[in-house]
Amino acid sequence: MRRLRRTKIVATLGPASGNAETIARLFQAGADVFRINMSHSSHDRMRELVAAIRQVEKQNNRPIGILVDLQGPKLRVGAFAGGSVMLDNGAVFAFDADATPGDARRVHLPHPEIFAGIEPGHTLLLDDGKVRLVATEKSAQRIVTRVEVGGKLSDRKGVSLPDTVIPFSALTPKDRSDLDAALDASIDWVGLSFIQRPDDIAEAKKITRGRAAVMAKIEKPQAVHRLDEILDLTDAIMVARGDLGVELPLEKVPGIQKQLTRAARRAGKPVVVATQMLESMITSPVPTRAEVSDVATAIFDGADAVMLSAESAAGQFPVEAVTTMNRIAEEVESEDTYHTIMKAQHAEPEATGADAIAAAARQIAETIDLSAIVCWTSSGSTGLRVARERPQVSIVAISPNVATGRKLSVAWGIHCVVAEDARDQDDMVERACRLAFKDGFAKAGRRIIIVAGLPLGTPGATNMLRIAFVGAEAERE
Ligand code: PEP
Repeated sequence: MRRLRRTKIVATLGPASGNAETIARLFQAGADVFRINMSHSSHDRMRELVAAIRQVEKQNNRPIGILVDLQGPKLRVGAFAGGSVMLDNGAVFAFDADATPGDARRVHLPHPEIFAGIEPGHTLLLDDGKVRLVATEKSAQRIVTRVEVGGKLSDRKGVSLPDTVIPFSALTPKDRSDLDAALDASIDWVGLSFIQRPDDIAEAKKITRGRAAVMAKIEKPQAVHRLDEILDLTDAIMVARGDLGVELPLEKVPGIQKQLTRAARRAGKPVVVATQMLESMITSPVPTRAEVSDVATAIFDGADAVMLSAESAAGQFPVEAVTTMNRIAEEVESEDTYHTIMKAQHAEPEATGADAIAAAARQIAETIDLSAIVCWTSSGSTGLRVARERPQVSIVAISPNVATGRKLSVAWGIHCVVAEDARDQDDMVERACRLAFKDGFAKAGRRIIIVAGLPLGTPGATNMLRIAFVGAEAERE
């Protein structure tokens, strides 16, 4: 089974889709990676979903990626004596360390770290940005604010602080325990929510120790400002447009999406564009024109993957949503404009053997019209460097590690095959031809290009490039 598109699809699982039968249908429709959101899943539920996905993987004999998305430090106000209050424009409202129920003048804020980080002039956004306040005074126990945009504020609504670097880790005790459970369940990607700085990635990597790859969700302006340092450390990023659109004016999000996508592509790290891509499909079997354009824009930007959230997790049409994304991606990628844009945004190779070989492979493949670039890759890094080139021909990655195959399922254009390591160079070439033929990437009589690192199994040692004919023997087998 092969996909006829390069852009991958991430589908979030939830009540509408969290059973083996629907997961199988979502996979058939085009989902390459399944996301489990720990804001809504217990450890037992996460393990059940992982088992169901692995069952589908086995039935289809294709590696499937699993992304476990950690909740992160969600900040909330305390409770009110009457359940809610109305805040009027221009009113003075305070947050304090007193746990007694609040009123129209004050409420408890059970996060001492905010008192340490906030400064007068910083904005506080409440209830997904519906209410906006500005801090005017602060002490260790109290923040006084002025209401800029008033409205109803009820018990335990979320607080966002777009201007404030809050001195806490991106991993809460719940995240630590969810992460341990996810690593025990052998998942492939872990999503880090509300990261603010590169140290947040370093902290998670100390725990994962290579057992899962790290995807930094960019949803705070603080993370946008430190993007290059974050990209140095993370394995991938997600443009988490839901929270980005709370912390920043909505009209800034499209520009940031372009900035993040380009930076990730330059770094050769996968980038997933997420949230409200086909939102109306939660209740409708067809999307709006604007949603189709939104998905198409992410694909034209060269994103590695586009993501479904509530559409596949809790909507009425999860399979239709994946089918729709699949159709949009196939159509966009068949446009000449798509290839022109990919070429125009091509990132120069870095001064490494792997990049020189990846760039040469793309150029040779396109110059002499080869059918595919086949890379032998143990850790996946050769595959990612080839994908960074965004070649017009197909990329097949062969890896002896199932974990590599699963991890690469989020990366642009890579069709990953898990197979035993080659014995020697001849075996490598012969099996590359056979696999490219068998999975429909090259016909007999066509040529492919093979990229590998010798000696085999040495991660990061990409140093070989061979052109080979797919012979009639591949066809006979
Ligand atoms: C987002 O904010 O866009 C996002 C993907 O995060 P979550 O769905 O976990 O809030």
